Amino acid sequence: MRILNRTILLLTCLWLMFTSAQADEVREHITIRGIYGGVPTELLARGPLRDVGVNAVFMGSGGLTEERIATLKKENARVYAEFNTMHVAGYLKDHPDARPIGTDGEVCPAPHNWQGVCPTHPGYRRSRMDAFRDVLARFEIDGIWLDYHHSHASWERDVPAMPDTCFCPRCIRQFQQAAKVELPKLPTAQLARQLLGPHQDAWVQWRCDVFTDWVREFRDIIDTTRPGALLGTFHCPWSEDEYDGALRNKLAIDLRAQAKYVDVFSIMPYHARFGHATDPAWISRQTTWLGEHLGIRGEPNERLRIWPIVQLSDWGEQVPVDQVRAVLDHGTRRPATGVMVFNWGSLKKQTDKVAAMGDYYRTIRP
Ligand SMILES: [Zn+2]
Repeated sequence: MRILNRTILLLTCLWLMFTSAQADEVREHITIRGIYGGVPTELLARGPLRDVGVNAVFMGSGGLTEERIATLKKENARVYAEFNTMHVAGYLKDHPDARPIGTDGEVCPAPHNWQGVCPTHPGYRRSRMDAFRDVLARFEIDGIWLDYHHSHASWERDVPAMPDTCFCPRCIRQFQQAAKVELPKLPTAQLARQLLGPHQDAWVQWRCDVFTDWVREFRDIIDTTRPGALLGTFHCPWSEDEYDGALRNKLAIDLRAQAKYVDVFSIMPYHARFGHATDPAWISRQTTWLGEHLGIRGEPNERLRIWPIVQLSDWGEQVPVDQVRAVLDHGTRRPATGVMVFNWGSLKKQTDKVAAMGDYYRTIRP
């Protein structure tokens, strides 16, 4: 009898240990375990993608081919395209009137060589919308993610450079019409002072509305060209309070307004690149803020989703192999319901980190 009791106790303990380990490890809420940066051919050469727990691949829309998509579909992986909205610098060669204008009325130099484009240039907007439609019409993708959808500013780093733009005559005219503000006839530099001074609230909201209206049009194109495909956005990971409200004031990103059109917010908390190299918990702090800001909890069947793109490759600062688990842990906490790693191009050479990623992805897979 005593032996039987002991055996039952032992089995109960083992069962409890097993089930609590399962609850700690498996993350039922995470539906997407992705890689960003093209077809991971090095992984495919070794075996099925499912063996490393990966079920989604994100790649630049310029790199899409029917063959690549077929390869990934055969692996049961979802394919998502990245789409450059406001950073096609080559357009400016033949269209100098699309260059953003600074507070002095002159063409604003590219901060850290990061070249943006005036958001009200009609030809540029048309060219981007046509390219977006073309990608969706040609390729059987599961979704498309906006990238660089912000003003002429360099922020993917620890110390950003965010000049105030765009004060071209077209932007100033459109602002006056939309905001019902009549500005005096003054040189641009003086007008810029007024727009950043007494008219700042209206100016900031108008700029946000211009960028949101691009998102509205992208959504329309998806709904008419490939309904069912997801619209995602790769966006700056700051809250609206950080950097004196730069998310709205400088970058012209109004997340709540864009949420009307976007399905998936892929916040970009590149902890090492952004000055948080030893603090991977920064990742989940930023996704928590985003969830609270947009009312996303990470429950199944929510219309809006958060799938962060987290940094495993060395950029700015190194990400050591023993940090991979913590980065993915913080990247897969609710409200996140998916995650992807940045980025395959450089990560593929660091096989120890790729192995650690695979270990983690397999562990959390339901
Ligand atoms: Zn402009």
